[in-house]
Amino acid sequence: MIRQNTGNRKPKTPRPVLYYYGIALLAVLLLNWLVLPYLLKPKVVEVGYSFFLDQVEEGKVATVEMDTNQILFSVKDTNGMESFYKTGYVNDPDLVSLLREHGVEFGAVIPKQPNYFLSLLMSYGIPLLIIWWVGRKMSKTLGEKMGTGGLSLGGSSGKIYVPTGDKKTFRDVAGQEEAKEALREVVDYLSHPEKYVTIGAKCPKGVLLVGPPGTGKTLMAKAVAGEANVPFFSIAGSEFVEMFVGRGAARVRDLFEQAKKKAPCIVFIDEIDTIGKRRDGGINTNDEREQTLNQLLTEMDGFEGDSGVIILAATNRPETLDPALLRPGRFDRQVPVDLPDLQGRIAIFKVHAKNYKMAQNIDFHLLGRATAGASGAEIANIVNEASLRAVRMGRTRVIQEDLEESIEVVIAGHQKKNAILSPEEKKIVSYHEIGHALVAAKQTNTAPIHKITIVPRTSGALGYTMQVEENEKSLMTKTEAFNKMVTYCGGRAAEEIIFGEITTGAANDIEQVTKIARAMVTRFGMSHEFGMMALETNSSMYLGGDSTLICSSKTGELVDREVKELIRSAYERATEILMENKAKLHELAEFLYMEETITGEQFMAILERENKYSA
Ligand code: ADP
Ligand code: ZN
Ligand code: MG
Repeated sequence: MIRQNTGNRKPKTPRPVLYYYGIALLAVLLLNWLVLPYLLKPKVVEVGYSFFLDQVEEGKVATVEMDTNQILFSVKDTNGMESFYKTGYVNDPDLVSLLREHGVEFGAVIPKQPNYFLSLLMSYGIPLLIIWWVGRKMSKTLGEKMGTGGLSLGGSSGKIYVPTGDKKTFRDVAGQEEAKEALREVVDYLSHPEKYVTIGAKCPKGVLLVGPPGTGKTLMAKAVAGEANVPFFSIAGSEFVEMFVGRGAARVRDLFEQAKKKAPCIVFIDEIDTIGKRRDGGINTNDEREQTLNQLLTEMDGFEGDSGVIILAATNRPETLDPALLRPGRFDRQVPVDLPDLQGRIAIFKVHAKNYKMAQNIDFHLLGRATAGASGAEIANIVNEASLRAVRMGRTRVIQEDLEESIEVVIAGHQKKNAILSPEEKKIVSYHEIGHALVAAKQTNTAPIHKITIVPRTSGALGYTMQVEENEKSLMTKTEAFNKMVTYCGGRAAEEIIFGEITTGAANDIEQVTKIARAMVTRFGMSHEFGMMALETNSSMYLGGDSTLICSSKTGELVDREVKELIRSAYERATEILMENKAKLHELAEFLYMEETITGEQFMAILERENKYSA
């Protein structure tokens, strides 16, 4: 595959909770200070004392209220409408008799509030409504963060997971049969404890789900909640870690207190590695995290095996977890949730396809084969992208083509509509991609590809080769590993043979080929020099992290030399194969250049037909 450099986009950070509080407070204050006084107070017009006397004498004044420095009075007009006035207080001894004379009601008369109920609603109802709305919004964001739509318990600690409309069950989790089996036992124990108690069997206290990201660990935990009809507390490890020292430990305590009250129940701690990291004596220890972890360890010891509280946790970095957490009596069972195999991928495609309108003739087997190494989350994404593409194309059903195109999109990025390859570049890319494919085909004598396209992608890939493996293998022989290296070298080799010049397009190939060569030497014991000697350890098996060399720097040098030698001979082999098949290389590349796409069948047809050019 040809790649260019691309920048990464930063993920959008969610708005902090304080932000919502701020808005609510502001809204309440504004309402009370600015809007309410206008709405609630009857309009009072200030007038002169003589106007007041005139009105009294004309008999229009209905009520009068006097206090020490002003007189409030209301006037009824001919329609019976009341309007309010005020005037300054004048020491007028005749006033009382004047008022009596005209039969005016006076004394402590307060202008009537326009609508008592409305004012109550305004001053209390609306602020309450705002606070309720903000609270709902907040609990929703929090809920999303935890992957539940639950309601808060005790304010700060765990959330009870209430299966809502989108209740998940084991049927929503495709593949992963081993993991389901292990968890089914837990579910069974919680619903029929007597079966186990009579034999004396104790249920595992803690079950740790481990696996690469996106393989369905969180989903699996939700499914357990759906299957077992017991309360389900869910909290993410990161929520324990707070700014204030001691809060994390308090949260753990809270959580377990709640859980014990609700037993039998399940507590789910997602991404437990945030708190469960190995404690070490290094300088950069994190007191808060250690306290939280200690509290967790204590709590897990604190309750009996038959108390009915079972702790599920998920992580993709089990190797960083503190050994104390993994000992029997705590998380004594580890359930691997691995990347799906071919059958698993097909099943995941089918599960997700159910949620969309699909054409009848979808070839799920092919989709499964084309997505080797994809996680469940990626497959879910592919199916959704396909549905979006179907809408874009104005279809009412998702068809096979949508799915295949969206596999390319998810793996290689969107087609760049306005990035145009110059004819020269297009030619180079054609030869490069055919170089890979031809080398692969000559080594195995089977169709090595499903499709090659040379449409530039937003990810920076200029061409894309969609490979499908007929059947998946768990073991790779030394020859196969070497052949794979030769295939990666095929692109660059083709460029060099045809153009006598090399490009930057092979950067990704170079990375891959080096990775394989290094692994062959340092981890798979496939070199003459070192044999079975392990020279590297892999620091995080599920995240595909770095390996660290565990040998002297002198040996390191030798390793580099061996790796170099391996790559050199792979490149030589690739050049050899292409030189032998130069005619076919031209023919195939020409086809790809003209059509921009070549399928596996077309590829094999051209490869197997009589030579067009005589070599
Ligand atoms: P993890 O917690 O392991 O990183 P998630 O459980 O969050 O992964 O999975 C993300 C999404 O991927 C799920 O919501 C689901 O749509 C999809 N998914 C992953 N694995 C599976 C699976 N085995 N079956 C069906 N869908 C899956
Ligand atoms: Zn390449
Ligand atoms: Mg998860």
